[in-house]
Amino acid sequence: MFRLPDLPYPADALEPTVSRATMETHWGRHHKAYVDKTNELAAAGLQGRSLEEVVIAAAESRAENPKLFNNAGQAWNHGFFWNSMTPTGGAAPSGEFALAVEQAFGDQQALRNRFVEEGVSHFASGWAWIVWREGRLQVTSTHDADTALVHEGTPILVCDLWEHAYYLDYKQDRKSFLERWFDTVANWSFASSQLQAAQAGQQGWRWPE
Ligand code: FE
Repeated sequence: MFRLPDLPYPADALEPTVSRATMETHWGRHHKAYVDKTNELAAAGLQGRSLEEVVIAAAESRAENPKLFNNAGQAWNHGFFWNSMTPTGGAAPSGEFALAVEQAFGDQQALRNRFVEEGVSHFASGWAWIVWREGRLQVTSTHDADTALVHEGTPILVCDLWEHAYYLDYKQDRKSFLERWFDTVANWSFASSQLQAAQAGQQGWRWPE
């Protein structure tokens, strides 16, 4: 059985960018429901398998069985999302990560513009990602429960574009949410460790056992 992981910080730690009310509902209700539903749907098929393995297998049969992929994908994406944020965000990344940003986008401001643009122009629900693909950082987005985990490349950082991620705090203003998210809570130290893993050919963050 998969267990809802604890948040890596208290529920009010990301205020005012993300309110305690949003975190409590988002983590305690939405994320919990995805984890519970994954357990229920996968049941006997779960033994000894990591959530990553379940998501990858479910992706292959999602045409026949979309429910398992939708719930397992959402469970994994949210786990990755909590780690993509930190109360001590805000400082621009340095070192290898800054170099990779420079090579791919020019500078951190250009990455910010690209990321916010991707998130704002993404139609309806989904996820805005920074991924390591084809030897460089790229910005992309996925729809609904789809996850960078099952596409080519390694996930580096993600922001939730579903309305439940920002509606309480920003109403329908996804752009303001994305800008403040990027400027104040995006976890560049997590992004750097993901990049290191990607460059070493490893997956990086995994769902906790
Ligand atoms: Fe969400």
